[in-house]
Amino acid sequence: MSSNLIPDRIKKIINPALLKTSAYQVKDATGLIKLDAMENPFSLSNEVKSSLADALAQAPINRYSDPDAKQLTSTLRGYWAVPEHQDILLGNGSDELIQLVLMSLLGRGPVNVMSVEPSFVMYKKITEALGLNYIPVDLKDNFEIDDEAFLNAISMHQPSVIFLAQPNNPTGNLFSEDLILRVLKEAPGLVVIDEAYGQFSSREHLYLLEKHQNLMIMRTLSKIGLAGLRIGALIANKDWLCQLNKVRLPYNINVLSQIAAVHLLSIPHMLDDQVSQLTQERQRLMQRLSESGKWQVFPSQANFVLIRSLQEDATQVYQRLIDEGILVKLLHGSHGLLNQCLRLTVGLPEENNQLLASIL
Ligand SMILES: *Cc1c(COP(=O)(O)O)cnc(C)c1O
Repeated sequence: MSSNLIPDRIKKIINPALLKTSAYQVKDATGLIKLDAMENPFSLSNEVKSSLADALAQAPINRYSDPDAKQLTSTLRGYWAVPEHQDILLGNGSDELIQLVLMSLLGRGPVNVMSVEPSFVMYKKITEALGLNYIPVDLKDNFEIDDEAFLNAISMHQPSVIFLAQPNNPTGNLFSEDLILRVLKEAPGLVVIDEAYGQFSSREHLYLLEKHQNLMIMRTLSKIGLAGLRIGALIANKDWLCQLNKVRLPYNINVLSQIAAVHLLSIPHMLDDQVSQLTQERQRLMQRLSESGKWQVFPSQANFVLIRSLQEDATQVYQRLIDEGILVKLLHGSHGLLNQCLRLTVGLPEENNQLLASIL
């Protein structure tokens, strides 16, 4: 949907910040090997397909879904070992939870929302769509946080919320634990650590909830294999989540997603084994790419690898890959620090081989 020419009758009504932005773009991947969106590439076995079909066939789709998704919440509590005294609030993807967090800030006058850049674009998009102020702090050129600049920005802008993706998307790295602790100490408001890729990384942050009342941990089932179900979760103290729960629309997790997620998470090891295979494939991809000398490879703790082209123009490589049937993410042009960069989602071994054959 193009919005180049916005009629006056619309312009005078719609939020001015919204008029200036554009909708989230998703490239059509029909017929392509899809290595652009950090999905898990494994498909379900026939056995699992058929047990899932049986479970879904029993779904009471004439009824509203359980508004509290009790069974799924309790399955997730077990799967992630969330302590009893922490609460879990589910969203239709973690995108919806970012929106809930930000909506709960409206009505207090000017509100600042802080994150680093480059990072996950939805923090900025939703902040701006809601008319709140987005304060980005640029990472250093090695994609580490500039600790002093970040802490100064906190003290200057007094953000109501700070979003930190750990590992960060699209850079793949974890920031230092020491910095995270300092942010938790200095933040005047809420800190959301977004662990969309936590299971691929060497560090998770659930343990910090005990000591830090201003922290929420955000997780999702999307990157470990269930992107189509749209299940995200906030884990935090009840006092926070009961406020956010007032903004949540009832029945936000549909009945089929609740049943499917409970069913698939209850199959021992299935998703965890896939996560560990993908983590190994990531190491192989990174190694092959760095040996080639054609790419600068940034260290990754996620199911994707950020690379910078050292020879050919990245946009041309991206186009050539599409011609050869492979879709990756072109980051060149999206932020100054991402010059000549592509982001490769780790795929199946044979997909990764095809990718390597095309770009090495
Ligand atoms: C993919 C991603 C999300 C969104 O996940 P959904 O649960 O599918 O909405 C959130 N945060 C980061 C950092 C991501 O990369």
